[in-house]
Amino acid sequence: MKILVLNSGSSSLKYQLIDTQTEEVVAKGLAECIGVAQRCGQIIQETEFAGKIAFETEMNCHDDAMDRVFALLTDPEKGVVKRVDEIAAIGHRVVHGGEKFVRPTLITDDVLCEVEKVSQLAPLHNPPNLAGIRACMRLMPGIPQVAVFDTAFHATIPDYAYMYALPYDYYTAFGVRRYGFHGTSHQYVAGIALDMLAKEGIAPGSSRIITCHLGNGCSMTAIQGGRAVDTSMGLTPAEGLVMGTRSGDLDPAILVYLARRLDAPASDIDRIINKESGLLGISGLSSDMRDIVDAAAKGNARAELALAVFCYRIRKYVGAYAAAMGGLDAIVFTAGIGENSPIVRERVCRDLGFLGVELDATKNETERGRAINLATPASRVRVLLVPTNEERMIARETARVIAGSAAPSPLVVTP
Ligand code: AMP
Repeated sequence: MKILVLNSGSSSLKYQLIDTQTEEVVAKGLAECIGVAQRCGQIIQETEFAGKIAFETEMNCHDDAMDRVFALLTDPEKGVVKRVDEIAAIGHRVVHGGEKFVRPTLITDDVLCEVEKVSQLAPLHNPPNLAGIRACMRLMPGIPQVAVFDTAFHATIPDYAYMYALPYDYYTAFGVRRYGFHGTSHQYVAGIALDMLAKEGIAPGSSRIITCHLGNGCSMTAIQGGRAVDTSMGLTPAEGLVMGTRSGDLDPAILVYLARRLDAPASDIDRIINKESGLLGISGLSSDMRDIVDAAAKGNARAELALAVFCYRIRKYVGAYAAAMGGLDAIVFTAGIGENSPIVRERVCRDLGFLGVELDATKNETERGRAINLATPASRVRVLLVPTNEERMIARETARVIAGSAAPSPLVVTP
């Protein structure tokens, strides 16, 4: 059985065709610069069978992009899909499920309507997700489609952790609360981490772990007994950690102050905190952690400051979440920075001996690309490097939904 996994962003469409039995990636690709006036669209696809294909093509919208991708996948000579019904289902990453969607959901017309309503909460993210779903419905009408929500894994967070101290009516009228994102990634790496802990005799139901998804976007989740109990992103993905271009936590009054000082509308403030802040904002150099680490090593003071602020924020959340859970068994690092940056892991874990965290310096420098404990044998808390794989998780969840499984996702441990 093959599942097509789609992640459609504002100007891009990423896809993977995954064999659910072997979890082998049969094809993977990316359509970029969709609807970008200044640049021609580009498609890159890799399959074992036909190798890498890359070409430019005009794509005005997601419908155009999906047409091209579908044609590539089903190409009589180079395609990997001979008959459309070889695709058992399509799993879509949908960023915001609001309070309505707390688990992966089979897409029907009613579900589409509901996702559209929720889109007010994520006006930049959900519309391209919906465009991808509609394009697939048009091209592959008989094939079941499943929405896998970035927010769903965080649905177990208790009210005292998701409620902002604003007038309550804004919660009931406008849905203002913490939702959290990157749920698919947190869930995937937590599943592997809990398996690793179980081998050491720590039962999932009594485990307390913190997952750190540190990529272009960054978030941390406290997971107690296999359930998310707090997470750093909020109503939107702008809250919490320092990210490539997002500020993360701010004094909320700064936004009002800046709007006054700059005489700027809300859209300008939105752009500043989402696109011009974070590592890029502090360093003035780059949003890419590799550039920041290189520049800091060469003595660039603002790059060093960006790195310091980035790591300090993560340390604060480690402390906060350890306190929230009343203890800690593992810190899990994942995504581009979490998996590949020894210096970030080292700075986060430095001097956390009082919490029982002791990083093995050699392992931290040398290990890469596989799930492994980077802590010393004496460390009470494991420091786990776990490569994430959101597409695989979406394929698994999609397969579970079409198999009609009503059981909760495996990670959510029912007491
Ligand atoms: P992701 O969003 O998970 O694809 O992560 C992308 C980010 O990972 C990039 O923006 C880089 O900042 C970071 N990254 C990738 N490789 C490395 C590396 N070797 N060292 C530090 N950061 C890295």
